[in-house]
Amino acid sequence: MIRIAIDGPSGAGKSTVAKAVAGRLGIDYIDTGAMYRALGYKMKLKGVEPVEDERLAELLESTDIDFRAGDIYLDGEIVNDKIRTPEMSMAASACSALAMVRRKLVELQQNMAASKSVIMDGRDIGTVVLPDAELKYFITASAEERASRRYKELMEKGQDVSYDSILSDIIERDHNDSTREVTPLRQADDAVLLDTTLMTAEEVVNRICTDAGKML
Ligand code: C5P
Repeated sequence: MIRIAIDGPSGAGKSTVAKAVAGRLGIDYIDTGAMYRALGYKMKLKGVEPVEDERLAELLESTDIDFRAGDIYLDGEIVNDKIRTPEMSMAASACSALAMVRRKLVELQQNMAASKSVIMDGRDIGTVVLPDAELKYFITASAEERASRRYKELMEKGQDVSYDSILSDIIERDHNDSTREVTPLRQADDAVLLDTTLMTAEEVVNRICTDAGKML
């Protein structure tokens, strides 16, 4: 069994890399950001505010999040596209600061990785979710490079967005993620740092697969 933890800020290319590594090694990919997005989406849908502890506890109790064949299911419905909007990025960032939310999702993530090989990406995988992961990476890139990658991605999907608003969103989310009280974004002491500003996704994938190959 091999567990690979990938952490880093928004838009650093974590999911592109993790998906490709999972495909090559034939292991499951778990996108934990998508789980926070799905929950942020449901909170918006139900009109539950972060301060409403009781309603939030009920919502968490009655929420089912799962991955099947690369799709994310929220209470049985595929929500892949609904959660990939700038609005849901901010909703995810806001709900991810809540201790109750993190407790529930971390437990779910640990269960998902308990009995199979996985590559998991997020902000707290190497530090909290899988502290004993066999391989840990912290993937980053400059804020401008990350904004320009996300801009291209959203344009290709036909979403009408401006580069400047994406860059300011990224800077705001970096700030939220690294200064929040509960589990701020932090590189694990034993994680390998990969700055991808000047690396292609292919180079990062090769590096991780080479490391994994030595362990399998
Ligand atoms: O990775 P992605 O941009 O989809 O994540 C959305 C948001 O979810 C992040 O901005 C972050 O606030 C939160 N998140 C988190 N912990 C994780 C994964 C995501 O706090 N493990």
